[in-house]
Amino acid sequence: MPKPLIEVREATCSYGPIPALHGVSIQIARGEFVGIVGPNGAGKSTLLRAMHALVRPQEGAILIDGRQVNRLSSRELARILAGVPQEAGNPVPFTALEIVLMGRNPHRRGLSWESPQDLAIARQAMERTHTWHLADRPFQSLSGGERQRVLIARALAQRPQILLLDEPTAHLDIAYQLEIMELLTSLHREGLTILAVLHDLNLAAMFCERLILMSKGTILADGPPGDVLKPKWIRKAYGVDALIRTHPLTGRPYITLLSPSRLDPFRDAPSVHVICGGGSGAGLLSTLLHSGFRVSTGVLNVLDSDHEAAQAMGIEVIEEAPFSPISEETHRLNLLRILESDAVVITSVPFGHGNLKNLEAAVEARNRGIPVFLLGHGQGAVRDYTGGLAEDLLERLLMMGASQVESVEELLRELVELSNLRQTR
Ligand code: ADP
Repeated sequence: MPKPLIEVREATCSYGPIPALHGVSIQIARGEFVGIVGPNGAGKSTLLRAMHALVRPQEGAILIDGRQVNRLSSRELARILAGVPQEAGNPVPFTALEIVLMGRNPHRRGLSWESPQDLAIARQAMERTHTWHLADRPFQSLSGGERQRVLIARALAQRPQILLLDEPTAHLDIAYQLEIMELLTSLHREGLTILAVLHDLNLAAMFCERLILMSKGTILADGPPGDVLKPKWIRKAYGVDALIRTHPLTGRPYITLLSPSRLDPFRDAPSVHVICGGGSGAGLLSTLLHSGFRVSTGVLNVLDSDHEAAQAMGIEVIEEAPFSPISEETHRLNLLRILESDAVVITSVPFGHGNLKNLEAAVEARNRGIPVFLLGHGQGAVRDYTGGLAEDLLERLLMMGASQVESVEELLRELVELSNLRQTR
């Protein structure tokens, strides 16, 4: 492996008794575009500050291009590595061009004035970030997105090999966020090594080749976005459940955060079994879970989006192999689960020969007196690909006293009523 451009070796940094970085090791190769993600207080900014020699590790070392950062003069370091701060700090009475020219300081001798070459480089950096037309404007009068681009231009004017950015998209609206990330992507393509602390996991997944997920001063996961943004790591870092899909356009992971840390229902809370599939159940499963019900679902095929959602929420799933019809064995397991439930809900999932057994299980539940609810089964809502068998079973369920409910709210009211009845029994 070629020598890494940045190497953090077992670095520990403390401001007080608790280390903000705890034995962190990272290697970044030349030309990488890395996103650093993690909750507040994880140590992301401290990591950037340590790379910038602004804080010194008490243990371990940080090497840039094979040299310890603390042994480099600030001018030497600034020619290799440029930082883009999150905010410009206090109001500054400078024009945008004057700010960008500050990026030339590490290249100037003593207190000399800027040379024509410095001006040419500043102009180039501003053209590169589409800010040249703002050159004479007071920096303070610019919009958030324009200011951020000027600060990136200042970093570029340093002619560095590495850009370090601390939340470059914070406080920007989505169009400006995309603009900044696209700018970073094109700078990366031109050969810059980029490390950016990013708040937005979806933006990070969309643009970075590699993510480093930090939590409590350590690295939880490091690798391609698809390996790092896994429900178990998100839960561990942020304490929230996440639903992760592959974005149809970018092929990158796309995250929906479900809610702050899953509620653990009471052991004797009423249990609801949901028959769903193809995304018809994910929202309902989450609502039931967060309304305090014990929830199970099935039979669902592995790879079905509802299967994925249930797993992300830690819901019990009776599962079948991908794209396979429900086997007798799985049907039996599902039936056992259903017969222990206090209620069964059937969403408007399409039925084919592969999942028809789920309706047979519901009929069996109804036979044993378990309440069955058909959610959103209005006129033509359920597609039947079994030549009428599914419709017959649904008819039969209605004749056996299954209830039709139109909305999740109505279902919740019915379920709450049921559980009240159960308590008074
Ligand atoms: P992040 O950037 O991930 O939000 P930070 O690196 O800013 O995390 O902070 C990591 C830990 O170090 C936090 O507990 C924070 O309170 C603490 N910390 C950060 N900066 C300072 C400081 N200047 N003085 C004291 N503690 C600090």
